[in-house]
Amino acid sequence: MGTIVIEKTAPGLNTLPGDDVRQIMWRFADRYELQMLIQSTRGVARGPVARIVAAGGRNSHEWTPEKAALLAHFDESGITAAFLDPEFGGFIAGPKNLVLALMAFELSWVDAGAATCSLAGNLGLAPIHERGTPEQKARYVGGAAPLKPGENRKQIRAAFALTEPIPFVGVETGMLAGKVRVAEWKDGGEPVLQVDKRGRFITNMGFANIVAAAVESDDKRIKGSCMIILEETDPGKFDRGTPTKKLVHQLSSTNDPVFNLKVPAHRIIGGYTIKDGVIIPNYSHGEIIEAVFRRTRVTVGLMTSAKLLSAIEPVILYHRRRFRGGEGAPGTPRYELGLQQKEDVLHRLVDIWATGEASASLGFAAARLFDELDPLEKQKDQWLAEKKVTGRAAFKELAKKQQDALELLKLTLQPVGAREPNDTGVLQTDPLVQFVILDTLANVLCPACKLWNTGHGATMMREAVSLMGGYGVTEDCPGFLGQKWMDAQLEATYEGPEAVQRLQLSITMTNELFLAQFQQWILEVRRIASERPGTGACTLGTAMQLWLWTLNHVQTATDADGTKLYHKSRQGVTFPLADALCWLLAARQFVLDVIELDTKGAANPALADGLPGTVAFFTDLCHVQTARAAGEVGRICGEIVHGYNRHPAWDETSCHACYCAEELETLEGIIPGIDGSARAYSDVSEIRELHPLKAGPCVKFDGLEAFVRLRAKLDGCLTGCRLAKDRAAGALTKVMTREALDYPA
Ligand SMILES: Cc1cc2nc3c(=O)[nH]c(=O)nc-3n(C[C@H](O)[C@H](O)[C@H](O)COP(=O)(O)OP(=O)(O)OC[C@H]3O[C@@H](n4cnc5c(N)ncnc54)[C@H](O)[C@@H]3O)c2cc1C
Repeated sequence: MGTIVIEKTAPGLNTLPGDDVRQIMWRFADRYELQMLIQSTRGVARGPVARIVAAGGRNSHEWTPEKAALLAHFDESGITAAFLDPEFGGFIAGPKNLVLALMAFELSWVDAGAATCSLAGNLGLAPIHERGTPEQKARYVGGAAPLKPGENRKQIRAAFALTEPIPFVGVETGMLAGKVRVAEWKDGGEPVLQVDKRGRFITNMGFANIVAAAVESDDKRIKGSCMIILEETDPGKFDRGTPTKKLVHQLSSTNDPVFNLKVPAHRIIGGYTIKDGVIIPNYSHGEIIEAVFRRTRVTVGLMTSAKLLSAIEPVILYHRRRFRGGEGAPGTPRYELGLQQKEDVLHRLVDIWATGEASASLGFAAARLFDELDPLEKQKDQWLAEKKVTGRAAFKELAKKQQDALELLKLTLQPVGAREPNDTGVLQTDPLVQFVILDTLANVLCPACKLWNTGHGATMMREAVSLMGGYGVTEDCPGFLGQKWMDAQLEATYEGPEAVQRLQLSITMTNELFLAQFQQWILEVRRIASERPGTGACTLGTAMQLWLWTLNHVQTATDADGTKLYHKSRQGVTFPLADALCWLLAARQFVLDVIELDTKGAANPALADGLPGTVAFFTDLCHVQTARAAGEVGRICGEIVHGYNRHPAWDETSCHACYCAEELETLEGIIPGIDGSARAYSDVSEIRELHPLKAGPCVKFDGLEAFVRLRAKLDGCLTGCRLAKDRAAGALTKVMTREALDYPA
């Protein structure tokens, strides 16, 4: 591993990072089929999709023929079939999380509504793909394959209907109004079910011919809830409803449908058994939704990352040309740099770029993790089935594997000489141990990337819009940045808004096995800090320690009234700590991806010339991002650790009492009058006389010494981060761009 030493003479960033760089960072350099698929998806995104947007196609809520024509492009380019296994007409074998993530990224580079239109079809099929019976998979997943020449059948287009009109299902997925009853059940025959479901905001409803709908039993003869497949031709009412008047993702179709249909019981997704005259679905709607969303949410997270990274070039182009109308001639700084002469625009763009990189790194890492997890999950299911254990008994079996996994992590932390070489062998090769390790991580990375990429990403998209001045809020803005800003807010909302992700994280991030891995990561980041200080890994490591210290602290700490701090109802504690973790995860993954680029990039001759400059620039971006993450973590942890203690010297009259004696000496003459007047005190004795201090220092450090030390250390670790930002800003003034974007505005 080469150590990067950044000096004034360090090589610069020649061009914006291209596919060769991304393939290494996001680890698909050896997957030629994905590289090809990216090219064809890009052709659709920057061709037909961009043309529709530029022609004002987003200005209607209706599902227009122009929008519908995109479906054919998706089919012809391989986008539709990429979701399908080869046995069902697809062309990529094995897990497809990374594939789908890369395609969503490409489409969202131009328009995330188009990405959603394609992905919502997969979402509609996902319950069947994840939990469907073999017959259901063959009929619906197989039926979704684009038609081959000479084939004469109606292609399946799916929608996913969970959300219901207010006051029913939204964030709370358990509050189902959709009902299922037995309509007919002849002796020995298959039951026919009556399904009543109203949907709200259901994507693809303008054209879908099947719907996977979540419903609850309204009949003693059906147990619990399920997801069920509705077909357009089923007897009864299949009303697509009115189009949603949305301000976002207008290239996808969204409606509020009404279903009132009779369907055979074999449509229950995953099948059912009958016991004592009661239909028992094999999976509740909750179980299916969990299996589906934990994968698809990663893809949504990457949509916002694509927006941020797609903003870099249009903003640079705009800034450089901004002042050309004046007196400056070619060759003068005013002509060549335009607005880039101003430090602020450069620094803000650096922040946007660093956020985009970190969020893409986090999202693609999560997608790859699910690719690794998928086959292990199948092995786990098979293992449990062979043992004939389900429910609580299955949970107990997996808990044993979790203990094994913890043991394995403990052993791997020991120096090689301190353990027998074979100590870890059995545990390391046990797929169930591997499963629980990766599953624990997936339970954190998925909500983290959905939450941070989209939530913080939407905020940073606003920054991008602001850098384009008035242009930013027009339809003509190059790169469609204004629309992308608003679209990002939908990505933060659908498939579970931020609160849902924070709720999930507040549980999964306290898992002992996750925290054991997190501790390992701290050591790893510390090692990186000594080898590559320019990445800001030192800051990151300290911020990780601070977060872990705070999480441990709040497990037992109470507030000033003696109430427990870490509790599911105390979202003021759990949610910010979840946010803080996301900052750390994203920054860490970005650092790891830059190391990967540095390590593997030299093997690619196409990169040879530009590699050192790109790595140096990315290293600076890492430093910017780790510093920003550390700042957020410090702020959040500080507020939580100190903020629930009551101030010892507070009373209703004097806020000055919070200054401890030593500080008063230094504040002499600068404290304004407490009555709100502008008067400054002349000396400390006057303050003392007027407002005698009622207690000692405002902060009680008892038991918090380690925290206070870490916070002070964190500040020190920021050394150099602004120099890195200056260098990155300088690179933005020199990097080569195209003359114009490769898609229309
Ligand atoms: C364009 C679009 C397309 C969509 N496509 C689909 C689709 O195809 N299929 C489908 O089923 N749904 C779809 N949805 C619905 C979407 O998933 C929901 O809107 C989303 O999950 C939030 O539900 P809600 O709007 O009812 O918000 P609510 O449940 O009303 O929540 C509103 C807000 O309250 C707060 N909140 C709620 N609960 C909690 C809590 N427990 N703790 C803390 N805060 C909380 C959060 O800030 C939350 O954002 C779509 C929505 C849109 C806008």
